[in-house]
Amino acid sequence: MKETKSTCPYCGVGCGVIIESQGDQITGVRGDPDHPANFGRLCTKGSTLHLTATAEVTRQTRLLHPLLRDQAGMAPYRISWDSALGIATDRFARTIAEHGPDAVGFYISGQLLTEDYYVFNKLAKGLIGTNNVDTNSRLCMSSAVAGYKMTLGADAPPNCYDDVNHADCIFIVGSNTAWAHPILFRRIEDAKRARPDMKIIFCDPRRTDTAEIADLYLPLQPGTDVMLFHGLLHIMLWEGWVKPDYITAHTNGFDALKARVRECTPELVAQTCGLKREDLFTAAKWFATSASTLSLYCQGLNQSSSGTAKNAALINLHLATAQIGKPGAGPFSLTGQPNAMGGREVGGLANLLSAHRDLANPAHRAEVAALWGVPSVPEKPGKTAVEMFQAAADGEIKALWIACTNPAQSMPDQSTVRRALERAEFVVVQEAFLTTATCDYADLLLPATTWGEKTGTVTNSERRISRVRPAVAAPGGTRHDWVIAVEFARGLEARLRPGAPTLFPYDTADATAGAEAVWNEHRESTRGRDLDITGLSYPVLEQAPQQWPLPAGASTGKARLYEDGVFPTADGKARFADVAYQPLAEPRESRYPFSLTTGRLRDHWHGMSRTGTLGRLFGHVPEPTVQMHPQDMDRRKLAEGDLVHVTSKRGSIVLPVQASDEIGLSQAFIAMHWGGEYLSGCSSTGARLAGVNAITTSAYCPTSKQPELKHAAVKILKA
Ligand code: SF4
Repeated sequence: MKETKSTCPYCGVGCGVIIESQGDQITGVRGDPDHPANFGRLCTKGSTLHLTATAEVTRQTRLLHPLLRDQAGMAPYRISWDSALGIATDRFARTIAEHGPDAVGFYISGQLLTEDYYVFNKLAKGLIGTNNVDTNSRLCMSSAVAGYKMTLGADAPPNCYDDVNHADCIFIVGSNTAWAHPILFRRIEDAKRARPDMKIIFCDPRRTDTAEIADLYLPLQPGTDVMLFHGLLHIMLWEGWVKPDYITAHTNGFDALKARVRECTPELVAQTCGLKREDLFTAAKWFATSASTLSLYCQGLNQSSSGTAKNAALINLHLATAQIGKPGAGPFSLTGQPNAMGGREVGGLANLLSAHRDLANPAHRAEVAALWGVPSVPEKPGKTAVEMFQAAADGEIKALWIACTNPAQSMPDQSTVRRALERAEFVVVQEAFLTTATCDYADLLLPATTWGEKTGTVTNSERRISRVRPAVAAPGGTRHDWVIAVEFARGLEARLRPGAPTLFPYDTADATAGAEAVWNEHRESTRGRDLDITGLSYPVLEQAPQQWPLPAGASTGKARLYEDGVFPTADGKARFADVAYQPLAEPRESRYPFSLTTGRLRDHWHGMSRTGTLGRLFGHVPEPTVQMHPQDMDRRKLAEGDLVHVTSKRGSIVLPVQASDEIGLSQAFIAMHWGGEYLSGCSSTGARLAGVNAITTSAYCPTSKQPELKHAAVKILKA
């Protein structure tokens, strides 16, 4: 039996695993006791990974050879890799020649490894000359990125998991940590057991399992987070709990924010947020006066039409109370996906460039062009996720390349997304699993490797970079994601820059050497930047996972940032964000009287292409339901299990109703995981089964462009 150290491919905790294998079969998995993210622990998802990679599951679910579909609706048929890459090259080259580089788009994934991400970004921005490369991380972390940059000057989560062990107060907001980041939650439980005096405040419209550990639960109304944070600052100011010395020495912009929060009185905040006045005082006191306060937050803040403002308003509290830059204190965004961070680091979003450079900055564009050896990087911002599919639906983007993600289930407002996939003239889907809804729309399917087969790196929520290693050989005709991107790029180069030396000189025959060459190029791009990892070679990573920055000459990464009170801004000071409270994009009203929110379950991941293969993972929650408050069910004469239509302005789905006291009055909850084959219902076009995103809204934050997946106004009627 062989043992291989790698990481779990599910959430941003980034747990280390040891994969057991015999020949080409993965036979077991256990937590890596030496990995600092989990010290040997795994949750239900991680500990069953090997069962999702059996020969039988592979046979039933994996895409193992390139497939071509001649016409929409027809069954695809097998073709060779040479033919597949030739067809892809022809179609993209023709589209670029006829309509320009912005007529193509790449939609990639926080499930990809950093090396995959790097190559796709260079392919789009460096070779083709379009910034139309975005990722499902847009649906996950882009508000956190924008919030950090607006206030602290860089997209750098300042904390580490060990801060849980130093915090005297933990403020969990917009995160069901118990289910979405289970191994981090085990640390919080351990810390609370060891230090019962530590205060935990939990703030969320739903009273989830995370509330069980809280000393104070704040059941705020959906979308009112900015009002709450401004209200807490109002109380802190009134009570003299802010830290004027820190504010003067290390920040700018406090006076404007002070003027703004003056009107956020406890009465107004209590009424707007649906909270008790005395609870606001308790929360403000614990946050401001504890020796160290750590905020943990996730999609409840990010997936919002005011996601950037929510992130920034929370960070304001940390700056005003000097709860940052010391053990156990700081604003710590929890990453949803395993490598959303790595994607941010290589600039794999439509508005970013490598190593935290900004597309809007001419000097940054010139630096990246020089690094890549191309004349320029295009200035025009690319289309972000929602914009990209809207542009395809409008006929503006004509060729789409989708890698390692399932937009035909995961994007909001499915009727628009599916119209886009139908209207696009050529759709490539690069996937490990043939079972995703997006595969139905592909003209060309390219089989990719997945967990247990890939080599490269990922970065978890605490900026820790780990090596991902293959335990078994790539099955069938699958290839690594970065290899597919490189082989396509080389074909395109022959058309776009004939005779020029390749921009992609990586060894695709030797996966580890090739991935290492990509990594080294990425490392070099970080030189002198806030995330400098010039000292973090593969051999260094072989010793242990490391946090960034880790510049050449350093022996270890940085556990926490801003301990010296210096921020990566022009004058070294952080900036208070004077952001206004904005109501929800689609408030509930008489015709749509329920606030629908969405979220994860404990034992499933995304669209269930992997976890849905295991019967045992349905033991916790066996079927999709819409959860409602018992009083709302009584008023509508609904009994447990009754089928109901859940309808928004965009579509309708049918589900059994379930009573839940986790939910407030006039609220409803549907898990995000079910779609397509699992869920009864249809999009507003009546075309295909679409899951909960048949009814969610694509309204997005104007700064981060992250859509408001956490709230849609719906009506619920007996079917
Ligand atoms: Fe995997 Fe996240 Fe569970 Fe860790 S907590 S085992 S990374 S799903």
